[in-house]
Amino acid sequence: MKRNGVVLVICAPSGAGKTTLVKRLLQEFPHFGYSISCTTRPPRPGETDGVDYHFLSHEEFERRRAQGYFAEWAEVYGNFYGTPLPPTLEMLEQGKDVLFEIDVQGAAQLRLTLPAGKYVFILPPSMAVLEERLRGRGSDDEATIARRLANATQEMREAHWFDAWIVNDDLDTAYDELRATYLASTLSPCLRPLLVRGVMENRRR
Ligand code: 5GP
Repeated sequence: MKRNGVVLVICAPSGAGKTTLVKRLLQEFPHFGYSISCTTRPPRPGETDGVDYHFLSHEEFERRRAQGYFAEWAEVYGNFYGTPLPPTLEMLEQGKDVLFEIDVQGAAQLRLTLPAGKYVFILPPSMAVLEERLRGRGSDDEATIARRLANATQEMREAHWFDAWIVNDDLDTAYDELRATYLASTLSPCLRPLLVRGVMENRRR
């Protein structure tokens, strides 16, 4: 029996390893619909418009925001980011699972629109390890690292309302936990409200 799509929301402080985990999940489950966010930040080298983000001017972002086009939006490091609502609803209705990789403030807003989603928070094993990882990337200056660490502390204070916590110490273990969380969420009765009745009436295919 066809089911509705799962909303899987993944949040993590930068440096916690979210991108690697999400990439692995999408490799194993390529059927995932991915919500492409809009942003006012300029593209980084290698990023493509319409693939990584929809890159918008401030004016265009503001116009769409005022129209209620975004399921949630947030200002992160001075740039605006928003999740378009119409394509998301369309994918869910088609039974496509949709993955969101957004910041904590955005996730809190999204939960008001999509409360049945699975909200996953990925933690680093410790602040010391997070700092090491941020330095190891070699892409941020000292001020940026300090800002990301302060932001990580803020974000972790919000971790209490999430549905699942995954500590990314060992990558394989963290991935197994993310995968299990996703698979468990596909079994939720609210995605197939007529299933049991269908079984009882021999309409289960
Ligand atoms: P970046 O500019 O490095 O791609 O992303 C910066 C931050 O913005 C990350 O924490 C990312 O999760 C967050 N972000 C990306 N897209 C969205 C979105 O649509 N909404 C919100 N609230 N945050 C987003």
